[in-house]
Amino acid sequence: MKIRVKLTLLFSALFALLLLGFSLVIYFSNANGREEEYFKRLRQLAITKTNLLLDAKVQPAVLQLIYKNSLNSLPQEEVAVFDTGFNLLYHDAGDIDRVKETRGMIDSIIALKEIHFYVGDLQAIGFVYPYEGKTYVITAAAKDDDGLKKLKTLRFDLAAGFVIAILLTAFAGIFFSWNALRPVSEMVGKVGKISASHLDLRIGEGNGKDEIGELAITFNRMLDRLEHSFEAQKEFVSNISHELRTPLAAIIAELEISAIKERSPREYREMISLILQDSRKLSRLSNDLLDLAKASYDQAQIAFKELRLDEVLLDARQGVLQSNPSYGVKIIFEREIEEGDFIAIKGNEYLLKVAFANLIENGCKFSPDHQCIVTINFREKTTLLRFSDRGIGIAEEDLKKIFTPFYRGENRKYAQGHGIGLSLTQKIIHLHQGRITVESRLREGTAFLVELSQA
Ligand code: ADP
Repeated sequence: MKIRVKLTLLFSALFALLLLGFSLVIYFSNANGREEEYFKRLRQLAITKTNLLLDAKVQPAVLQLIYKNSLNSLPQEEVAVFDTGFNLLYHDAGDIDRVKETRGMIDSIIALKEIHFYVGDLQAIGFVYPYEGKTYVITAAAKDDDGLKKLKTLRFDLAAGFVIAILLTAFAGIFFSWNALRPVSEMVGKVGKISASHLDLRIGEGNGKDEIGELAITFNRMLDRLEHSFEAQKEFVSNISHELRTPLAAIIAELEISAIKERSPREYREMISLILQDSRKLSRLSNDLLDLAKASYDQAQIAFKELRLDEVLLDARQGVLQSNPSYGVKIIFEREIEEGDFIAIKGNEYLLKVAFANLIENGCKFSPDHQCIVTINFREKTTLLRFSDRGIGIAEEDLKKIFTPFYRGENRKYAQGHGIGLSLTQKIIHLHQGRITVESRLREGTAFLVELSQA
């Protein structure tokens, strides 16, 4: 069921319930008021007649005659006066007796002093009336034609008012909910048009202040992020294919040239070494991409354990030196290690090793002396690692971009690479809730500062 219909139904039902309660209260308070008022009138009329009978000694036949023609008499009026011995002293109409008083009735009137009851549609009252030391029992009955007619009209008016009010409420509900939810329907239409190829479409933000406006703004911001990451993915894929294509094209070209004619063993050796170089590039690239994918998982999917940073650093250094024996890496502790607690952190050993190896390797490969110095220090609960070199440095305008995947600085001609290392390193450090910053001066050197929280 649509929200619009649901809201209208709910609103109308609630209003109907309230209106019904309100109408019932009005009706029953009117009905009770009328009944009480009529009992009072009956009593008054009966007392007047009894007084005429007992006080003014008017003959019953005369009394009957007076009231028969009186404008003040009530419809189907029937007053009877008894003494306590159930002897009838007066009755309005001798021939019609609808109340049909019995001895039991007279006794219960004497016991209760006053009773109210109905005889068919006649409203009746019975009460005791003391007069000159004697007790009389009076019954009076009549039909409240006017009152009942008014009550009937009230019933009809309330029912008609109820139906009309509910219909109006339902129409108003449909109108207002339709109006209020129209932006949502428009949103649904617009969102239906958004697809991977139309990620630039945005939905209307209305006044931007109510809940629907806020929803639209949030949705549009989400689309901004999606579009951005979609574009980044596209760029990433095209970068990867470009990076893969170059060494692959070189390998194919070299193999094709060698296949044209018979070569000497020396030429074959040269060619094999060239192909090996390109294959190594490909292998390095695929490893980097694999690591990047691993570091892109969310934290919950990566195993974290307590480890010592100095051990991870030593492992990283060993890895770098193994593939580049000409490099030099110095690890310096700026403070005494006391029980090793300031270098203990919670992290993923493999990923941290990849990150540190990248920073060490960059330091060495972008320095003429191929030297990198790693210093370890701490501040409160943070361990500080500084990877510095006295290399060629990074241009000011490159500093902001070097963490972007596949970005290589102006100095890229100086050393080979794919531009993945730093973005991967940054991802790994962030995954460990750490921070990585860089400072560099051209021709003087570069320093990367990594801050990691201790375990
Ligand atoms: P790669 O080293 O494969 O080019 P990285 O992502 O590791 O890719 O580095 C991105 C860029 O940052 C490098 O191309 C280089 O321009 C710059 N860079 C990183 N580290 C250093 C450094 N220690 N000295 C000078 N430039 C650096």
